[in-house]
Amino acid sequence: MADYRLLIGGELVDGDATMEVINPATEEVLAVCPRGSERQLNAAVAAAKSAFKGWAKTPMAGRRALVLKLADAIEARTEEFARLLTQEQGKPLAESTAEISYTAAFLRYLGGLDLANRLIEDNETRRVEMRRKPLGVVGCIIPWNFPVLIVAFKAPLALIAGNTIVIKPAPTTPLTTLRLGELCAEIFPPGVVNIVTDNNDLGGVLTAHPDVAKISFTGSTETGKKVMASAASTIKRITLELGGNDAAIVLGDVDPKAAAAGIFGGATMNAGQVCLAIKRVYAHESIYDALCDELAVLADAAVVDDGLMQGVQIGPLQNKAQYEKVKGFLEDARADGKIIAGGVVEDRPGYFIRPTIVRDITDGARLVDEEQFGPILPVISFTDAEEALDRANASPWGLGGSVWSKDRDRAYALACEMESGTVWINKHLDFGPNIPFGGAKQSGIGVEFAEEGLHEFTQLQVINEAR
Ligand code: NAD
Repeated sequence: MADYRLLIGGELVDGDATMEVINPATEEVLAVCPRGSERQLNAAVAAAKSAFKGWAKTPMAGRRALVLKLADAIEARTEEFARLLTQEQGKPLAESTAEISYTAAFLRYLGGLDLANRLIEDNETRRVEMRRKPLGVVGCIIPWNFPVLIVAFKAPLALIAGNTIVIKPAPTTPLTTLRLGELCAEIFPPGVVNIVTDNNDLGGVLTAHPDVAKISFTGSTETGKKVMASAASTIKRITLELGGNDAAIVLGDVDPKAAAAGIFGGATMNAGQVCLAIKRVYAHESIYDALCDELAVLADAAVVDDGLMQGVQIGPLQNKAQYEKVKGFLEDARADGKIIAGGVVEDRPGYFIRPTIVRDITDGARLVDEEQFGPILPVISFTDAEEALDRANASPWGLGGSVWSKDRDRAYALACEMESGTVWINKHLDFGPNIPFGGAKQSGIGVEFAEEGLHEFTQLQVINEAR
């Protein structure tokens, strides 16, 4: 068949089966692509295992050079990859183009990091050195919201540290990753990078595999718990980047119009399917009406359509299951609050839901308490900022959050009290490869990006020598 192939042991191969990939803007079949089998996943792990020794012994400069070569190769195909990404994922072309550019930028930055040994003591009695060694085969499990960029959160760190990898894309967004595999096949020695697709049936096989030393997982908290349980049988290392229910706390001294613009962008990027999106807004009662009105204006004006069309701000939800889930939230929100913009499921092909602002809603409503992962934003009124903080912190999640105020000291003090891995002041959704990123509470375990992220792909070893 196939225009698309898996990457196993350096070979681009057909899957043992096939599956259809749907364009969420049209609900039409975009491509038939390979679906890997358990046999093929095991073959990928075996290939990664046999490539490990040679790769781990390759000097770090050599490993880095290949990661940087991949960054160049991706950048050279930005236009083609971005178009394909929009077709399989749904996001507007400008967002897809940014995702591919960020992918190259993350590969470059993270691929350029250094991993030096550290001399802890060297005296007349002993010499103690700390080294960081690769772990072995790393499984990288990817969700469908940023199918390409999230590969670049994991792969460069795993690879420069000397690990070999097996990447498993999400079943609804495998295509651009398989194109990436074609580049990897030309750049890396056989077995160093492997890509196997599935239909949501091989993740558990990878996480339980005795020859996989670490799982780097990004996805829902629910699946993260399964990964954690499954990794226990072999004491695998795990990094879990999971869900979130980020709160934005907006104090009474803000300009509602300016704050609304930042908040709306932070809530509706990628149709709200961002782990770090604003998913609930706590607004001080003095600006509550004005902020709700400004958010409604932006929601009404938003251009929602096929991401390939010019000027589109918000594309469809990525897949049918997510679309049905978000529609369920919409129905509950009708009963729990007042919809002042959106609330419409368009009667057309494609998984489109207009951005929706819900006011007069409060904690306890499903839209406030759970992660909707869609373009529906609840706005909750508060009187006292400390109380808003307590309500924000009452969530089992703790990925991101933000405080909006003209009073920098007040905002900073509240930010420090927020129980989340990242807190922004007067913005949301700003991150970079040099800034460690990780979740508090049920939003995850471990850190990605920067040196802290690199260390997670290593085993610390101490050499303690008598003098
Ligand atoms: P998901 O958990 O359903 O799937 C994620 C990946 O896990 C997919 O590749 C899937 O095939 C795989 N998987 C399914 N069952 C598995 C199992 N038993 N063992 C191992 N892997 C398995 O998540 P999703 O719906 O694809 O993504 C949306 C979720 O991801 C949201 O909750 C979002 O907040 C979260 N997310 C978090 C971050 C972050 O960095 N914290 C980033 C993006 C998305």
